[in-house]
Amino acid sequence: MAHVIGEPCVGVTNAACVEVCPAACIHAAPRSGQYVIDPDGCIDCGVCAAACPVEAIFEATEVPEAWQRFVPLNARLARSRS
Ligand code: SF4
Ligand code: SF4
Repeated sequence: MAHVIGEPCVGVTNAACVEVCPAACIHAAPRSGQYVIDPDGCIDCGVCAAACPVEAIFEATEVPEAWQRFVPLNARLARSRS
């Protein structure tokens, strides 16, 4: 599994999560106005969720219904970087 960044990040993008992630798997997705998590690199430690000031980060299995689209979006945008 992995963690997922949802709607509240859009327009905030302060990168606090990037600074604490031990796996370096959080990346900017400028065209979407947010950061995204690469599910292939995430070790599910959860420290990013604790660091986010707007509670934008969830475990993939706990993403609120309204933000379900962010699960595939994070994976697609993160993987399309390479
Ligand atoms: S859960 Fe851990 S490894 Fe995954 S994105 Fe957050 S800080 Fe990085
Ligand atoms: S800490 Fe939260 S608001 Fe800031 S970039 Fe990460 S997910 Fe977005």
